[in-house]
Amino acid sequence: MSTEPASTPQANSNDAYLSLQGVRKEFDGFVAVDNVSLDIRKGEIFALLGGSGSGKSTLLRCLAGFEKPTAGSIALDGQVLNALPPYQRPINMMFQSYALFPHMSVEQNIAYGLKQDGLKRDAIAARVAEMLALVQMEKLARRKPHQLSGGQQQRVALARSLAKGPKLLLLDEPMGALDKKLRSQMQLELVGIIEKSAVTCVMVTHDQEEAMTMATRIALMEHGRIRQVGTPDEIYESPNCRFAAEFIGSVNIVEGKIGEDENDHVTVVGAQFPVPIYIGHGITGVSGQDVAFAVRPEKVWITKDEPRQAYNKARGTIEDIAYYGSHSIFHVRLPSGLKLQSNFANQKRWDSDGLTWGDAVWVSWDDNDGVVLTA
Ligand code: ADP
Ligand code: MG
Repeated sequence: MSTEPASTPQANSNDAYLSLQGVRKEFDGFVAVDNVSLDIRKGEIFALLGGSGSGKSTLLRCLAGFEKPTAGSIALDGQVLNALPPYQRPINMMFQSYALFPHMSVEQNIAYGLKQDGLKRDAIAARVAEMLALVQMEKLARRKPHQLSGGQQQRVALARSLAKGPKLLLLDEPMGALDKKLRSQMQLELVGIIEKSAVTCVMVTHDQEEAMTMATRIALMEHGRIRQVGTPDEIYESPNCRFAAEFIGSVNIVEGKIGEDENDHVTVVGAQFPVPIYIGHGITGVSGQDVAFAVRPEKVWITKDEPRQAYNKARGTIEDIAYYGSHSIFHVRLPSGLKLQSNFANQKRWDSDGLTWGDAVWVSWDDNDGVVLTA
């Protein structure tokens, strides 16, 4: 019998503020969220990242109480939430459309929930002033939503969401309504405001860049399941599976089998690469097992001369150069047919080391620059 940990509702680990245990959501037999367990710390900005239909919004709606999980438990600050309706949860969800009341001013929008709660006039005024200062909208307090830019509307929506001091802030695709330039500015602004207010935040996004820049940790989702949880750099540098490696950033994948599997190194061998690929750490695998080796394009070097290292190098031909301004991506074709990408930072104008289309080159990388993926 297997001894894998069961999803017990009380199994909160010490530093978990928000704890999900075995959460599952079915719609007429279709499993939208599949056995999700997560521990989220107080003050985190935690991102649920995944493609369309991976179950991110459904999971967020379970937290908010708009969906009732088919199984599993959700606890926040020691309180099990499952039986509570949305309005009794100490949670606020900010919608992508912001859902601001169009006929109310900025300050009236922010005050709305506080009035509903029956707070005294003075207390409301003080809290609204605090929120206006937090999102730097003091000067625009009397304006109506249609007199504000997209970014300003978002700040008001955020102020309104935070006014009642929720324990948990939920954001579903918060930048969805903004254009690209404003988006990256608002990402940083939003992080600043969330950090200042010290609220714990779970956000949903399909945009890996957004998750990377905003989140303290990311849960990568596929088909309702969590494939990997980690800090942005953990997921980027140490993806635990091919899906994670390919979802975030671009990556070179070499397919092969495990050659040697030792404590301090492992080799990957196969027809795609002319020599064994040497990785300077052990894995849990067996010789002959099918694996993939993954290395990021910025870790792959292109040189005209043969590198001095014994491993992790191959001859190839430059087939394509894509210019992106800040960097260029070189595509190098190996005799096996495998195409590898290498990033070249354009730090000086017109400097690309004199490499051009059709050049015969070497590609190489260091022992610790790639990872072996067993799944
Ligand atoms: P995401 O936010 O990651 O794009 P969703 O959580 O919205 O994904 O949806 C996950 C899956 O669940 C999708 O296949 C979607 O069609 C399905 N789904 C979501 N809500 C419902 C619903 N109310 N009824 C039936 N199926 C639903
Ligand atoms: Mg969604």
